[in-house]
Amino acid sequence: MYNLTGNDTIEENEKRVGEAMKLTFIGAAHEVTGSCHFLQAVGKNILIDCGMEQGPDLYENPGLPIPESEIDYVFLTHAHIDHSGMLPALAKKGFRGQIFATFATADLCNIMLRDSAHIQEFEAEWRNRKGRRAGKPEYEPVYVMQDALDAIELLVPCQYGERITICDGIQIRFTDVGHLLGSASIEVWATEEGVTKKIVFSGDVGNLDQPIIKDPSYTETADYVVVESTYGNRIHSAEKPDYLGEFTRIIKETFDRGGNVVIPSFAVGRTQEMLYFIREIKEQGLLKEYQDFDVYLDSPLAIEATKVFTKNMRDCFDEEALALVNSGVNPLVFPGLHTSTTSDDSKMINFIEKPKVIISASGMCDAGRIRHHLKHNLWRPECTILFVGYQANGTLGRKLLEGEKNVKLFGEEIEVHARIESLHGVSGHADMNGLLKWIGGFRGHVERVFVVHGEDTVTEEFAQTVEEKFGYKTWAPFPCCEADLISNEIINEGVKVPVRPKKAAQRRADTAFDRLVEAGKRLLDIIYRNEGLSNKDKAKFESQINNLADKWEE
Ligand SMILES: [Zn+2]
Repeated sequence: MYNLTGNDTIEENEKRVGEAMKLTFIGAAHEVTGSCHFLQAVGKNILIDCGMEQGPDLYENPGLPIPESEIDYVFLTHAHIDHSGMLPALAKKGFRGQIFATFATADLCNIMLRDSAHIQEFEAEWRNRKGRRAGKPEYEPVYVMQDALDAIELLVPCQYGERITICDGIQIRFTDVGHLLGSASIEVWATEEGVTKKIVFSGDVGNLDQPIIKDPSYTETADYVVVESTYGNRIHSAEKPDYLGEFTRIIKETFDRGGNVVIPSFAVGRTQEMLYFIREIKEQGLLKEYQDFDVYLDSPLAIEATKVFTKNMRDCFDEEALALVNSGVNPLVFPGLHTSTTSDDSKMINFIEKPKVIISASGMCDAGRIRHHLKHNLWRPECTILFVGYQANGTLGRKLLEGEKNVKLFGEEIEVHARIESLHGVSGHADMNGLLKWIGGFRGHVERVFVVHGEDTVTEEFAQTVEEKFGYKTWAPFPCCEADLISNEIINEGVKVPVRPKKAAQRRADTAFDRLVEAGKRLLDIIYRNEGLSNKDKAKFESQINNLADKWEE
């Protein structure tokens, strides 16, 4: 904070205060993952989310402009790894401040960050086993278990709806935004020299009518809004799928054939929805001929996550689910549900002949116990593999969905004879109309809406839509973009890797090899156009290219 003396003119005062209240966009800027925003106010350094990038990276994220040890607080919107996954890395690099999150988010982070550390350690071990044989230098994991435990120690659980004083001049409030158990949008009040600015971070805005969790709540006032735009240019189908009916049909047809239904499911969120629906199928007697059918939940993470759901029922469940709770029913539990924590329990499932439902992770079949279940069931024509979530390009799940007839599991060729089905659940994200409705919740003037967390051009498109509909100033920031929150000026537009020239993009290369050569030329083109980068960035770019080259040279 600046000490203002009596000699300063009003303009000088404003300028100085303005310099001290600033929002910098670090991650999920013109991208969907790696959410991270950096707020500087009242002399404090605050991060809103600290997410891991997942999937393809469009724009280079610059990292924090200050050392991690100088961050005072993190305000966390929800537990998804693309919002929370770098908290252990923050702790590893010296962050010792507090991480504020809702009770359910803190509980979920407790299991998800440990799981993420396992994955990081496992990946490093795998890379090093390969690398050592090739005489390559040791690969250091992004973080290890102790870093995750250190981060978990720093979590401060908070109630929804309470205005919490963080320090002199900073207050926050969490509002349920209906995206995941514990998910919130966060209101931040920052007061400097008698001037208060209120910044509202949407987090991921939830969809309407999701099972178990509540619909999003709206926030009424803001000077600045930072809103996600994952579905900023798309509208979910208005037709409500008959989820229960479809699910029942698939189970019945499989059991009639004498097979198992194997569900690769995301451990947190989707799995609990599956349990909720199966309980309903049993409760409503929709599968009378198999009323006592068995369901095996075979994922330690999913079992832990289900416990977190149960623990936070009163705060987080919607009316329908809460009514069940109030009548003494746990909506995620039913007769015939078996959980297996040890790997021996897991293996036993394959010796049980009676047709059953097996829910296991990972949701895209790339890791975890699901791979064992696929090995035992994929070759059997009487079985069904039921996909209930998004399958990213290149994953085993996507290959199966696209009709691959032969897959490799544990070094063994497996022929695919099982039936492949998919059940599209209710998306966890609001669509364009849902996002506009959330923004429409603000009464009075909003100085500017920043659009983040969307695909490259979608952020721009959605910003345009908001401007036209509400008349608010908008901005879709690139990484490093800095905004002065006192003067409402963009003081630095940030960095964008130059986009591919149109001509090259339009040219259709004939063969896969031609396309690869084109990609190589594009890289060289980008190198030439980045001569002006700082030496630090040049070195970073160089090391990334060399990593890529090392990977393919073998
Ligand atoms: Zn999310």
